[in-house]
This record gives sequence, structure tokens and C-alpha cells, in this order.
Amino acid sequence: MKNNEYDVIVVGSGASGCTVAREMTRKGKKVLLIEKGGRAEWLGNTITVARMIDIPTLLRNYKDIVIFVNNYGGASNISAGSALPPPDKIFGPLGIDLSTETEEARKEMGVNPLPDELIGENNLRLMDAANSLGYHWRKMDKFIDASKCTGSGNCMLGCKTGAKWTGRVFGDEAIKGGADLMLHTSVKSLIIENGKAIGVETTKKDRFYGKQIVLSAGGLTNVHLLRGAGITDAGKGLACDWLSFVQAVVPGTRTIGSTPMSVGTLEHYDDDGIVILPVGPNWALFLGIAALSGPSHLLKFRNFFKYSSIMVKIQDDLTGTIGKGRAFKKPMTENDRKKIDKGVQIVTQIFKKAGAKESTVYPMKPAGAHPSATCRIGQVIDNNLATQIKNLFVCDASVFPQALGAPVVWTVVSLGKRLAKHLDTVVSG
Ligand SMILES: Cc1cc2nc3c(=O)[nH]c(=O)nc-3n(C[C@H](O)[C@H](O)[C@H](O)COP(=O)(O)OP(=O)(O)OC[C@H]3O[C@@H](n4cnc5c(N)ncnc54)[C@H](O)[C@@H]3O)c2cc1C
Repeated sequence: MKNNEYDVIVVGSGASGCTVAREMTRKGKKVLLIEKGGRAEWLGNTITVARMIDIPTLLRNYKDIVIFVNNYGGASNISAGSALPPPDKIFGPLGIDLSTETEEARKEMGVNPLPDELIGENNLRLMDAANSLGYHWRKMDKFIDASKCTGSGNCMLGCKTGAKWTGRVFGDEAIKGGADLMLHTSVKSLIIENGKAIGVETTKKDRFYGKQIVLSAGGLTNVHLLRGAGITDAGKGLACDWLSFVQAVVPGTRTIGSTPMSVGTLEHYDDDGIVILPVGPNWALFLGIAALSGPSHLLKFRNFFKYSSIMVKIQDDLTGTIGKGRAFKKPMTENDRKKIDKGVQIVTQIFKKAGAKESTVYPMKPAGAHPSATCRIGQVIDNNLATQIKNLFVCDASVFPQALGAPVVWTVVSLGKRLAKHLDTVVSG
């Protein structure tokens, strides 16, 4: 093979792309992993997060707050480490069985609940309040190694100690196994010959050739690459799992310093598509969302250091479209609004039970941290994540058939493992 020829090219190094790269490297394949962003090393602070987040896309679509991340490891760098297995209600109806891959991932990602001292007093108090009202809160699974965790609660600023699993763990394993990683390299188009994908071209016009090409570059980029290759169904509809951080002043406690989403409940998920987990924005995210909500919201910042925060996250409707470049539309539907409102009502009861005055409850403007479902299984790709173009596959949150409305990472890792098994069995040609 020449230097620019590979068995597998993976575009995008999020949790999914790194999983595919690692699994294919372990199968003895020559793998190239291409990442648009760099590798931020100074983790655990707001400046680094601001450098990892795709700010131009955020500003371009400021009316619909949806977060994209460009860095080695993708959005998993700033996840809260909250682990939910692939939901049966999403993949069961498609006949996709991820049970084997889910169990493999559970072991390799170190999924477990945290001990009480790392969960934090605030979370335990909110859990008691919820359960005394008859809800069913419990300690939630995390992909965090308790022996390395300091309990700072700063998971979403990037983990300083390496306690939290990120895509980088598998990406680094792929590199150790012989994969090539190209950072600061943006794929602009696919090279298609006689109806087959044979490579990718970067914005710098470099060309790389692969027997199998996997797009793991997230909901926007995948759409542009597929459209450029003639797959026009991509990008019709976008999910983002709208979430509202609901804040309240509970005397004697506050969210700062509690490990996010380490307790909570999924009891409203199957029927109502609502997930309730305590987690709050840091000061910068709080100010950012408040500023985009209107000047009066900025005044709420006076309580920032006193707030306890519980997130209401929903399975949103598939609305909106991906436009050109960074543009997208993601209107919130009445149905979405009703789900958020229902979650806010539940959370308000819990805050009151925990000792908050209702007047302090402040549900923040909904934002989306899980852009997904733009290249859906069943519409744009088949159950094996294959496109209609031979040797071209898609594997990340963009393939979800609908909004997950729940933590994503364990699901995309499981999908990445399943795709790798499939790639190993199909003959490229
Ligand atoms: C603040 C926050 C907290 C979260 N908390 C949790 C949590 O606790 N648990 C959980 O399960 N999920 C959580 N999520 C969601 C989860 O992190 C993401 O949904 C998941 O990591 C997405 O992985 P992915 O592989 O699908 O895509 P991404 O992580 O989006 O990766 C796509 C990669 O492709 C790269 N790329 C884009 N364009 C190009 C191009 N042209 N060429 C080359 N590379 C390109 C990007 O730079 C990026 O690195 C959270 C998300 C956020 C934002």
C-alpha cells in the first residue's frame, strides 16, 4: 500500500469514530483517523472548552442553541460521564440488537455508579427529596473511574485526571496499534468512482484512499459529505434532545462541586420521553444561555453561586433541516414544549420538597447538546450503517432513527463496535 492508501478511513474522531478506528486496528487493518480539530491538552477550564466548542456554528444559529464540538475525542471530552445503554425502544423496532457490543463497552469503558462521597451531598439530598415524593431516583451509571476522580464536579470542562472515559482512550489505543491520526485536517468531499467510495479529499486538497470509508464527523459534516456525493435525503430533520437546566435556591446546598448526573431517574423516559438528572451549567454556559435568552435573564446570575440545578432532557421531534455551510434550522415544536414543561413541573415539586421557595425556580432556555438523527437508519443508511454508495458507511449520533433523548456515548460506542464487526465481514470492491 502507498502512504496515502488505507483499508479503512474514519472521518471524525468522536467517541464513535475512535471506536471504529480502534476496533478495525485490532483486526489488523491499516486505519486512518482524520480529525478537523486539534488535541486540547489543558483540560478542566472554561477557556479550553470554548476552544473545543464550534463557536462559529453556535453564533451562526444563535436562535437555536445546539452545541457541536471540534477536537480529538469530539463531544465526549466535555460529557458529564453519564452512561446509559442503547435504549431498546429506539433500536428494538429496527431489529438492531446491540446487547453484545453494549456489554463489551460496559467493561471497556468502566461503567459503574460512583461512591457516595463522589456523588456529593447536594445530589443525595435531591434524590431523597424526589424519592420521598414517590419518584424513583437512583444512583446512575457513569463511565468514570472512581479511583482517579477528585469529585470536583467539573466533568463538562474536560477531565484533568483522566478518570472520565472519552473517545481519546480508544483513539490512543488505535494509534498504539498502528493507526494514523491526522489532526487539524478537514475532509471536504468524498472521492467516488463508478458508484463506489474510494477516498476522501481534504480542504487542503490532499487525497487519501481507502477500501472502506466511515463518516463519523457529526450531524452537520456527514450531511454535507453525503449530499456532495448525491445522497440528497441527508439532513432532512435534526434532533438535539432539548434540555433545560432548571435552577432553584435550596438553602444549605448548591450544585457546584457535585458530580453531574450521578443520580436521577429514567422513570419518565419510556412513556413520556423525559429524562431527569441533576446537573448545572458552569458560570460561562449559564451566562451564555442567559444572554441568548434576553437581557432580563442575565439578572438571574446573581443567584448563580447559590443555585441547585436539575436538567430536564427530552426526546424532541425531528424538525428542521441542515442548510448550507454551518446553517441549520431547529424549531422547537409544541410537543417539545409540553414535554419540557412537564419535566419542569416535576422538578419544581422536587425542589420545593428539598426546601426551595417556588419563586426561586428558574427554568433556563432549552438548548441542545446532542445534535443527531440527520442521516437516519432506515432513511439515509441501512441497518448495517451502509449508504447506497458501495464501501461508504456512517457511524455516529447522526444515524439515530429518532431523538435518543438520553446520554449518547455508550450508544455510539456500541454502534461503532457493531459496525467494525460488519466491516470485517463485507468484501470491499
Ligand atoms: C456538554 C455536554 C455534555 C454531555 N454529557 C454527556 C454524558 O454525560 N453522557 C453521554 O453519553 N453523552 C453526553 N453528551 C453527548 C455526547 O458527548 C455526544 O453526543 C457524543 O460524544 C457524540 O459523539 P459522536 O461520535 O457522535 O460525534 P462527535 O463527538 O460530534 O464527533 C465528531 C467529530 O468529527 C469531527 N469533524 C467534524 N467535521 C469534520 C471534518 N470535515 N473532517 C474531519 N473531522 C471532522 C469533529 O471535530 C468531531 O471531533 C454531552 C454533550 C455535551 C455537549
